[in-house]
Amino acid sequence: MAYLGLLIDTTKCIGCRGCQVACKQWNQLPAEPTTFKGTYQNHPDLTANNFTIVAYNEYEENGQLKWYFAKRQCMHCLDPACMKVCPRKAISRTETGAVVRDMTRCVGCQYCTYACPFHVPKYNAAIDKVTKCSLCANRVAEGLAPACVKACVTGALQFGKREELLALAKERVNSLLPSCPQANVYGETEVGGTNVLYVLADRPSKYGLPEDPKVSPVTIAWNDYIKPYGPWLIALTAAGSVLSFFTTRLMGAGKAAHEEEKLHG
Ligand code: SF4
Ligand code: SF4
Repeated sequence: MAYLGLLIDTTKCIGCRGCQVACKQWNQLPAEPTTFKGTYQNHPDLTANNFTIVAYNEYEENGQLKWYFAKRQCMHCLDPACMKVCPRKAISRTETGAVVRDMTRCVGCQYCTYACPFHVPKYNAAIDKVTKCSLCANRVAEGLAPACVKACVTGALQFGKREELLALAKERVNSLLPSCPQANVYGETEVGGTNVLYVLADRPSKYGLPEDPKVSPVTIAWNDYIKPYGPWLIALTAAGSVLSFFTTRLMGAGKAAHEEEKLHG
């Protein structure tokens, strides 16, 4: 089945946060205290109860305040680092490419939060589990678009086949290039490609997105070298412990016999 993705055209976003509210409503997420950081953005970052936020990246340009809005959420990577490191297999991919978690399997170890190159999953101490956007997999399974897309009033969000969205994004970027020479599509190749794609009018860093997101070498080492040999390493460690136990006992017995011999001449 073709992967279904989300296209975020930041040039059409007006920062109304309708998507943010729709996400909270659909997922029945409770309100929680926030922090004022001197901008209109609320919350300052994704949280365990805010699976999506609209980032208000503020700049002064030609003496005027300019916003570079960028809706943030899980990027639904084609090769998800979070899924690779989860020791409980609590993270999986649906047939449409959404990266989802099974809350009954999650044990709150937070390995996925450290592995994610976009710092998306957040730990919820109240339930001892990690949460994130599922690209509304339960809605999509019923033939509906994600709640954020349904709520967007300007057409900044589109849901559909990844390949078709990518073509649309490239077309849009081409039309922007004469006035925005730095315009680009984000998500086509980053970390091997993501199901969430952006049309950006400027460099990714202007939108608070990593210019060159990378999966940490520790994650790669864990997944490619340590995890596959985990059972062997455990078996070796156990064998070492058993060997050490018997060696110590044998040496102890030998020493006792020697002492006995010395005592009785
Ligand atoms: S953005 Fe992070 S949490 Fe989402 S799929 Fe990629 S690695 Fe996993
Ligand atoms: S609903 Fe659409 S226009 Fe409003 S903040 Fe979200 S993406 Fe931007």
